[in-house]
Amino acid sequence: MKKIGIMGGTFDPIHVGHLMIAEAVWDEYNLEKVIFIPSANPPHKHDVLTSAKHRFNMTLLATCSNPHFEVSTIEMDRVGPSYTIDTIKALKKMYGDDTDFYFIIGADCIHELPTWHKIDELLKICKFIATKRPSYEFDLSIIEKEFSDYNIQLLETPELEISSTDIRQRIKKGYSIQYITTEQVQQYIRKEELYL
Ligand code: ATP
Ligand code: MG
Repeated sequence: MKKIGIMGGTFDPIHVGHLMIAEAVWDEYNLEKVIFIPSANPPHKHDVLTSAKHRFNMTLLATCSNPHFEVSTIEMDRVGPSYTIDTIKALKKMYGDDTDFYFIIGADCIHELPTWHKIDELLKICKFIATKRPSYEFDLSIIEKEFSDYNIQLLETPELEISSTDIRQRIKKGYSIQYITTEQVQQYIRKEELYL
């Protein structure tokens, strides 16, 4: 079986927390590659997002030097809300039956999983790898209580107190974002005057 990681997110903007956990899962699970999928119209985020084009460009800039990272427009290209179940089904069609998908998810999102669209079905057709995140509990009890059939594994990863929200706030306040995201992403944000 081929093994492919999926890193979904709004990436508004992408930062080293995203890159580091994607690399850790790639390494631990011997994945062929990790596909970063910027979300188009995320059902769980109601704040105004930076345009999908900008978020895609920054994701590409941050990942292009890594030969086993890829960026997909699969969710941006779809009209209507982006549901992970639709994305995984489309990828399964593209890659065929000999590919297993590993969806990478931060600890902050685990408790939201039961609200995801068609989550029962999703938990059966896709593996989930949950990674640590500071200030968030890292436990599966809520999933275990609600779903009998699921495949979620917890992976111990270094914890980085980094978020896109913090980056956006730092830029607004005029603070440096050096080392929190890549140099190319910083340049792009400056050039496009994002988050001011
Ligand atoms: P925002 O603050 O705008 O919500 P974010 O930093 O949480 O941004 P997202 O694009 O929402 O980034 O997250 C995409 C995925 O990456 C989610 O599964 C999230 O849990 C995970 N993630 C983001 N930052 C970290 C981090 N520092 N450590 C571990 N996982 C992270
Ligand atoms: Mg988030």
